[in-house]
Amino acid sequence: MELEKMDENDWRYHGEGNRSLVVSHVQNSQVLRLLKYPMDDAEHARQTTDQAFRHIQNIVDYSKNVMKPLLGEECVHHGEAVKLPLDFLRQLSLKVQQERPESRCDKVMDTFSGCALCLPNLTQLSACRLSKRSPQLCIEIKPKCGFLPFSQHVTQEVKRRVCRFCMHQHFKLANGKWKRMSRYCPLDLFSGNKQRMYFAIKHLLEEPQNNFKIFTSGELIYGCEDDRAKQQDLCELAQRLRPHFPSGQPPSNKALLSELIQAIVGALLGTLEPGHAGEPQRRAPAESRAYCQGSPLHPELLRNGSPGLPKHCILYRILQTQMLDSLDIEGVYPLYRRVEQHLEEIPKDRGRLQIDGPYNEKFLEKVVNCPSEDDGSVEYAVGKIHQYRVAMTAKDCSVLIALAPCGQDDTLEPSLEIQPSKPGFTSSVSILDLDPKPYENIAHQYKLDSKIVSYYLWKMQTEK
Ligand code: ATP
Ligand code: ZN
Ligand code: MG
Ligand code: MG
Repeated sequence: MELEKMDENDWRYHGEGNRSLVVSHVQNSQVLRLLKYPMDDAEHARQTTDQAFRHIQNIVDYSKNVMKPLLGEECVHHGEAVKLPLDFLRQLSLKVQQERPESRCDKVMDTFSGCALCLPNLTQLSACRLSKRSPQLCIEIKPKCGFLPFSQHVTQEVKRRVCRFCMHQHFKLANGKWKRMSRYCPLDLFSGNKQRMYFAIKHLLEEPQNNFKIFTSGELIYGCEDDRAKQQDLCELAQRLRPHFPSGQPPSNKALLSELIQAIVGALLGTLEPGHAGEPQRRAPAESRAYCQGSPLHPELLRNGSPGLPKHCILYRILQTQMLDSLDIEGVYPLYRRVEQHLEEIPKDRGRLQIDGPYNEKFLEKVVNCPSEDDGSVEYAVGKIHQYRVAMTAKDCSVLIALAPCGQDDTLEPSLEIQPSKPGFTSSVSILDLDPKPYENIAHQYKLDSKIVSYYLWKMQTEK
């Protein structure tokens, strides 16, 4: 990137989350991820360029040195911290303002620090990694937590039956965050049972909220947040997707969407290249992965046993990383208090314990080699908190699936074997949004967990 030539007209609004706003380059396959702050956050406005740069570098280090070894080399792109001219950022901020969904405008883009994260545009991935001829079709899924807590520290029994996502839905509806309930349940997606996965994705399509997006040629065509009140139009979507399908396309819209869902399931279950740290596996009790009573699927389908995920698929790696949260927030919170107390007595230990980084190999080692028995030490407490934070990142990340129709010549060998379920797509998967979750968030998470559970219990009681 040539800094002196930065021109806001070369960039356009691409999307945003709770923490960052993303713009994509109109020609190159690049995005800039800019942090956002609450309107009145004076502290951030006072940050020096060096502090801000350090902060972004921390994000890069965390993706590169912590999340990448856990999730796999080939699916994580850690990007690079960059310094940008303030004038460019101010113009850019003005330019994208009108495109931003209203619901996100409680925060402003950082135009004071001059720092950002530069990443490859993963929604245009197919151009380089898959067939060159095909138009780009890319699906983004934010799968959320795929297991029920198995910790002994869980006090509310309902948490062992209904997953966090399903309980949280009721809370979000009550708070006006969404207008309609999502029927998606992460446990269905992470089940490894193709039928359950199919329904999980169908439910995401029907009510995407912020868990499902579709991009064609790098442009968002489905899953906009500003249409919160509007029912998504699946017929229109199917029409827009038609050109991206292999020739000999299904006749009806319904069949086309069904084929899309099957292609997504196939990509999520596909085998990744080795090149992953080969972590010791975390075994959670089978019940914690079985099923969630909040899922709308027929109990028969749920009970029919699910094979679990094949190793070396992307969902398996994400789930394994999520399961580093072995104590649940209820078990982690007392450890957080222990650390807080220790730091009050010996503040300088904050660095040695790597509470706010650096996120290097030593940090990863603390995560991977944390003892399973509590010896009462502050080191144990910190190790468990590090694990919890890594798991939180894995519960909040997104999977990007680039799909391209198999070319005429590289389709299935002509054979007598009929493979009706095999969709004519090749795929490539990657993971994004791998920021470290702040240590200080733990107190907030503890309160939020209790609020979500209490509200759910109250709601179920009143509905009886
Ligand atoms: P969240 O609220 O989920 O934590 P966030 O504020 O951390 O979100 P991201 O999820 O990193 O932000 O980015 C917001 C959106 O921008 C993503 O959902 C995705 O659609 C898009 N995006 C982010 N990074 C890339 C990338 N490298 N290539 C293409 N699109 C991207
Ligand atoms: Zn659920
Ligand atoms: Mg995100
Ligand atoms: Mg994020």
